[in-house]
Formats: sequence, structure tokens, C-alpha cells
Amino acid sequence: MHDDTTSDAAWAPETLAIRAGHRRTHEQEHGEPIFPTSSFVYGSAAEAARKFGGEEPGNVYSRFTNPTVHTFERRLAALEGGERCVATSSGMAAILSTVMALLQAGDEIVASRSLFGSTVSLFDKYFGKLGIVTRYVELSDLSAWEAAITPSTRLLFAETPSNPLSEVVDIEALAEIAHRHGALLAIDNCFLTPALQKPIALGADLVIHSATKYLDGQGRAVGGAVVGRDKELEEVFGVVRTCGPCMSPFNAWIFTKGLETLNLRMRAHCDNAQALAEWLQAQPAVARVYYSGLAEHPQHELARQQQHGFGAVLGFEVKGGREAAWSVIDATRMLSITGNLGDVKTTITHPATTTHGRLSEAQKEAAGISEGLIRVAVGLEAIEDIRADLARGLDALI
Ligand SMILES: *Cc1c(COP(=O)(O)O)cnc(C)c1O
Repeated sequence: MHDDTTSDAAWAPETLAIRAGHRRTHEQEHGEPIFPTSSFVYGSAAEAARKFGGEEPGNVYSRFTNPTVHTFERRLAALEGGERCVATSSGMAAILSTVMALLQAGDEIVASRSLFGSTVSLFDKYFGKLGIVTRYVELSDLSAWEAAITPSTRLLFAETPSNPLSEVVDIEALAEIAHRHGALLAIDNCFLTPALQKPIALGADLVIHSATKYLDGQGRAVGGAVVGRDKELEEVFGVVRTCGPCMSPFNAWIFTKGLETLNLRMRAHCDNAQALAEWLQAQPAVARVYYSGLAEHPQHELARQQQHGFGAVLGFEVKGGREAAWSVIDATRMLSITGNLGDVKTTITHPATTTHGRLSEAQKEAAGISEGLIRVAVGLEAIEDIRADLARGLDALI
């Protein structure tokens, strides 16, 4: 049958990103429609009863059944190679819903130390309050992961590559460790997206997204998603349905359209980031560049095998500490000074005083967050313009 209501699993990722998930309505629309409706109506009292009772599939209420949101969910599930996806109101809501669904008081999480700041607060402050303990380990140190696991560990949680030093963990090996101890492995795939990394194919059980970043890719909306097997995702769905951190149909439409260009954008992001990393390495004012696409990166080989690209977030250290780093940031005229990433616009930030400002001096040192470190999330402007904007401040340092 010639229509796009079913997605063919044999399609290449570029095709899935454009065609998967849309179930064309009787209006025969070509583009994916937005359904801005809170509820749905029934032909009879009996039909309403069947749909409410879950005996008959169909739309009930947009907190848990909205066709536009479902289009996004099916498309992202197809791209990640998962059985099911549940969309959420933000990336944080995706992590919250996952842990609420799968863990209970007394259970433990083992997580990588270099996590997104709000994830650490969620784990320590809020799950801590509910009796769920999180232990943190060095991302790339597999024996540390294994040593931190106890009989109560239910979830291993990692962000790979890490922000902003591009450290990488072997997902296949970590999944093996998790499963040997009866735990699940969740990977926050925000930095690479399914265009560059497929954690489920490597053995991960759950993939977490902040759709706010590259899935939209243009800085327009906040959203999130969880992808995995039906079994666990049914539980996550239950949390979203009951607790309410659902995605709006308008945002789902933005993310669905964002996915259509994901593969192209990610390739262009990687090309710009690689070119910038190589140029930064040659600048006299730069002491060190952290990017897994560089042959000197300690995990370059693992990143090359595990990923289809090295992403677009890089760190570099200038000589002269905080003063020098701030002067480079303040000398830019085009780059946006902001902690956000995953946008077509290049952003620049000083991790030690912003994204990692809450860490103690000892924690910063352990995490490699020096005062001279600058993070750039490389966008899609012309590479010459990005280089020129950084050159002004870097040249002034020598
Ligand atoms: C931004 C981000 C989140 C949180 O996502 P929101 O959409 O801002 O709630 C989680 N993990 C990573 C790696 C992020 O970059």
C-alpha cells in the first residue's frame, strides 16, 4: 500500500526521520497535522466506556493520548530502534518519570559523576528525599561502576560523551555489567542523538532525551522523551498519564519537524566542531582541546567505534586561568554567551562559574573543570565566522 502510515523497519535513518510515525488522517494531509485539543469525543456511551476502560484503543485525553505527540513518539522510537517512546514536557521530566516508574524507596542508582547539573540535583535532593540513593563514579572507569553496584542497585545512568570534556564510556560493556547485576542501563543520548549513537543497539535498556537540544535543533521549545522496551515504557507511560508531565501537541509538532533534518544537521555540526577543534589546537593561547574527534583524545578509538560522529560540544583550556577565559568569552560578538546547547547558533560558556559553579574546588579539580576551560557548543554558522569570533580574544592573549 502506498502511504506513510506504517514505517518500514528496513528504511535508512534518514528516511525514518522524515517518514516514520505519521498516520495520515481521512483529510489526506501531506504534512503532519497538529491536534490542539484537550479531549476527544465518542460516537456512543458504549464506545466511551470501552475507550476509558482501555478495551478499545483510541484517543481519550491529551495528557496521555494526543495524535501529534504520538507521531513524534513513533518517529523517535523508530530512530532509536526502541519498541516504544513516551514524550515528556522536558528532558528533566523524562528522567523524573523514568525513575518514578521503575524504582522505589530503598533502590539505588549508580551514575556517572559528570552529569547534567539538574540531573544531579534531581537524584540527590528529590530522589534522596524519597529514599533512593545515588552513587557517582568516573564515567569511563568500568571497574568503578561495578564496585559501586549493591544488591539494591536497579539503575545505571550515564551521559556519554560527557560535558564538557567529551569523555566516553563503553556502552556495550556497561550494559553487560548492569545486566549481570540485574539492573537496567539508561543512557542520556542528548549530546549525540540517534543520528550519531544508538544506545539500544549497544545493549542499553532505556534512552533519555532532552528534545530541547538537537532533536529540535533550533532552540524553539522545551521537551523530552524516553525510549525503550514496551515492558518498561508501559510503566513510564503510567507515570506521565497519572502525574502529568506530558508534551504539548504544539511542541511535539516542532520536534517532529526537527527530526526530519536531524541527520543532516548532526553531520554539519560534527564537521564544524572537528574543524574548530583542529584550529583551536593550533592557537598559541590554547593549552589543550577536549574533543573526542581528535586523535590525541584518550578515548578517540572507542568513540570512533561506538559513535557515528563525535558531536559538537567541545572544551578548550586557555593559558591564564579565569581572567583569560572570561576575556576570550567577552571578546566574542557573534557567539551567544549561554549555557544552552544543541542549537544552530554557536554558544560559549565558562563551566567553572556557570554550569559547574555549584561544585567545590576539589570536585572541579577531580572533574577536570579548570578556571581556564571554555565550552563551545558548535552551531551551523560558517566556520570562518566562528573562528574569527574566537580569534579576536585568543589573539589578544599572546
Ligand atoms: C538539557 C539537558 C537535560 C535536561 O533537559 P531539559 O529539556 O532542559 O529539561 C538533561 N540531560 C542533558 C545531557 C541535557 O543537556
